[in-house]
Amino acid sequence: MTKFIILTFKLGKKIKISGKSDYFEVNNVFCIGKNYFDHIKEFGSTEKPENPVVFLKPNSALIQSGEKIIIPEYQGRKISESLHYETEMVVAISKDGSFIPEDNASEYIFGYAVGLDMTLRDVQGEAKKKGLPWSTAKGFYSSAPVSDIMTANDGFNPMNTNLELKINGSRKQFGNTGVMIFNIYKLISYISTIFHLQKGDLIFTGTPEGVGEVRKSDSLEAVLGDGLLKLNVEVDG
Ligand code: MG
Repeated sequence: MTKFIILTFKLGKKIKISGKSDYFEVNNVFCIGKNYFDHIKEFGSTEKPENPVVFLKPNSALIQSGEKIIIPEYQGRKISESLHYETEMVVAISKDGSFIPEDNASEYIFGYAVGLDMTLRDVQGEAKKKGLPWSTAKGFYSSAPVSDIMTANDGFNPMNTNLELKINGSRKQFGNTGVMIFNIYKLISYISTIFHLQKGDLIFTGTPEGVGEVRKSDSLEAVLGDGLLKLNVEVDG
């Protein structure tokens, strides 16, 4: 009798590809801090980083439009009183690569999305003060809402596109990717050299100025490219 061995793989989180019935399977989620000077200034600093500031979120942090952002509770208590939004362009990686020169970086881009790097600012502040890692503040479940992924195309210029966040219909954040300190090709080159990039990786490329707090029941709409991509999520606690 023939025996069949069925191998099951735990697949990464799948994100919808805009306009298609396909999904993009997410591997690692890299995030960039301090990539817009006006955002650095709103935290009281004028120091530009020498190299990209990179941190990671688990891919379980990803949620999509229609889902809710939840501040985690532990032992019956919310672990934070200060949930902040950061609106960011997200780059999706198409293939494995290491030591990628900036000039070839565009060949590794599958597409783009708009995402929110949700942050428990009080938890992050406490970690920074104690010199401890930020993972809880930045990587909790639902901390990485992301829109559908739009495939790279000639009509979209990632080096000069608008990013916007509306909360309950009013504009709270607005910026343009043209003023990033490290553009996306530099980011791909740097991350591929330090970590190595893999097919399915996402890179949250940093937030412009105007970050702030959200509260229970707030509706967030993040927009990339003046309406090309939209992400709609609600805060549930
Ligand atoms: Mg961020």
